Amino acid sequence: MDSYRILEKHIPEAAVAYCTDLWKKYPFAFRVTRPRRTKLGDFRAEPGKGFTITVNDNLNPSAFLITYLHEVAHLIVFRQYRRRGAPHGSLWQRTFREVMQPILHEGVFPASVLEPLRDYLTNPAASTGAHSALTHALRQLDARPTGQKLLIEVPEGETFRFLQKDYVRGMKRRTRVVCTEKSSGLKVSIWAHVWVENT
Ligand SMILES: [Zn+2]
Repeated sequence: MDSYRILEKHIPEAAVAYCTDLWKKYPFAFRVTRPRRTKLGDFRAEPGKGFTITVNDNLNPSAFLITYLHEVAHLIVFRQYRRRGAPHGSLWQRTFREVMQPILHEGVFPASVLEPLRDYLTNPAASTGAHSALTHALRQLDARPTGQKLLIEVPEGETFRFLQKDYVRGMKRRTRVVCTEKSSGLKVSIWAHVWVENT
């Protein structure tokens, strides 16, 4: 499937041509993947294999677009500077702001997202989850799946089900929650704003 048609399914229409152009300008393998526990997307540069960007398939169009450009900004920084450094340091922050600039308007994002998004971009953290107003605005766009709640809404010590496994919710640490998998007793860190099932 060509890039335009993949993006068309996931991001706001007014941003599809722009995002397709970025893909052509900075070629990379693009995969839309099943939701992962701790990340919305990622960027990889593998010797001899080129660049790969992945984005979770369950994001609403605004969240998908922000994640896509977050990863494209990593790619641009890597191509230009070839160094790892701080992955979300000032070079990445500046690049991310630049690639977001052309689409920061109401033709692309709902007004409810645009305002906290502009604020977030003044000093973008690694995860939009660190900006509570933006996270809240993005989550409002999601249709709440029946029988599910956000992990952050599960009281500490209560159980929930996520990706076919049962967990006990533990303490929040920054953007994630440390949970205990019931069958193995293993502690795992899960992003605080994923949908989980009641048990
Ligand atoms: Zn990143």
